[in-house]
Amino acid sequence: MRIVVVGAGLGGVAAAVGLHRLGHEVTLFERGAELREAGTGIAIMPNGQRALDALGLAGDVRRHAMRGGRMGLRDRLGRPLLVADVVRAQQEVGTVAVVERALLHRGLRAGLPAGLVRTATPVERLEPDPTGVSVISDGEPVARAEAVIAADGIGSRLRGQLFPGHPGLCRTGRMDLRGMLPRPAGLATDLIAGQLVDRRSGAMFGLFPVGEERLYWFTDSALPETPHKTPPETPSETQHGALPGAQEARRQMLSLMADWHPLVTELIEATPAADIYVDAITRLAAPLPSYAAGRIALLGDAAHAMPPDLGQGASQAFEDAAALTRHLSGAEPADVAERLLRYDAERRPRANRLMRAASRQSRLTSQTGAAAWVRDALLRAVPSRLATRQLAALWHA
Ligand SMILES: Cc1cc2nc3c(=O)[nH]c(=O)nc-3n(C[C@H](O)[C@H](O)[C@H](O)COP(=O)(O)OP(=O)(O)OC[C@H]3O[C@@H](n4cnc5c(N)ncnc54)[C@H](O)[C@@H]3O)c2cc1C
Repeated sequence: MRIVVVGAGLGGVAAAVGLHRLGHEVTLFERGAELREAGTGIAIMPNGQRALDALGLAGDVRRHAMRGGRMGLRDRLGRPLLVADVVRAQQEVGTVAVVERALLHRGLRAGLPAGLVRTATPVERLEPDPTGVSVISDGEPVARAEAVIAADGIGSRLRGQLFPGHPGLCRTGRMDLRGMLPRPAGLATDLIAGQLVDRRSGAMFGLFPVGEERLYWFTDSALPETPHKTPPETPSETQHGALPGAQEARRQMLSLMADWHPLVTELIEATPAADIYVDAITRLAAPLPSYAAGRIALLGDAAHAMPPDLGQGASQAFEDAAALTRHLSGAEPADVAERLLRYDAERRPRANRLMRAASRQSRLTSQTGAAAWVRDALLRAVPSRLATRQLAALWHA
């Protein structure tokens, strides 16, 4: 059966590989001139790793699973609020793997013959009819397929076409910086591993090892006032939008975090501005009524764009890709609509639940004043066993 995948991000590539391995005739369209994934590290949660296992794609990720140390939430000075032992968490629920985005993308796309990929081809719209879907780029049909997977990311144009009444994206009012650097010799960075929160500003700093040699850090803070009101089309485009440039954003973070644990500013300072990514955080303004419409299915951020606070965006895209691959196994053209409805029934409740949970987590870590004081007191009182159980519930696929 002919299947078109639109968008070669992490989700689209994983789905294309899975569907290709089933024996379907897959074409992957990407608007960019080349296949690539820009920017720093990404945390892949145990459920995302299991989805990649199902697709036979977990190799690079599993190699990066954390091996030891203590992780969790700390206050701005690095004092534990709720931290757990990584080895014990690994035995109970699996552990987080933090991977370089470019490496992960390269590993996934290695499973895809080059002849199946059409770069520099932005899909403009889909024209479905009873027997298939015509894929239109630049005003011309570029493919015809019995099924189309729209994996065109957070700013998905195809989502807007399928659900014209949907309100699309909204800004969360938060700005995130991400950076990666070689692990500096002689710094006890384990002391601040995990996430540091500050109840005065509502800002957060996160730090994870990427293998033995590198560190990935990120910040989350209130978005500075900007004159632009429209949400960015994709997170990476925000670098060129109304946000402060990396240099200015880094300066702002150094000032905001000047009296945090000294390692925080040391690590930000040690990262060249050219290696820092700045995003205004957006999410779907409302859940979609369906992830499937006839012969077309939505996948990844196109279906359920959420704030990054639970580190679940890519893991959910991988769960989508694994579920689609299962539901389209042995499918014939006449079954497609029915199979995609099963995909929707399986995936939408879970991914929408995680979208809500990610927004709640974002509100929790960005609290200030008395609410944040209560949060910190409660976190200190929670036994780490209970926290591990809560994580297990989120990570259960
Ligand atoms: C600051 C930040 C930190 C994050 N941290 C994490 C984390 O630690 N863990 C995690 O799991 N997730 C994280 N995420 C979320 C994660 O990055 C996304 O959920 C994931 O990359 C989405 O993948 P995708 O394939 O759905 O979309 P994308 O990666 O956006 O891919 C979409 C692709 O479609 C292409 N495209 C778009 N329109 C068209 C078109 N019309 N025609 C053809 N091609 C098109 C784009 O060029 C792109 O290649 C984070 C996000 C942000 C902003």
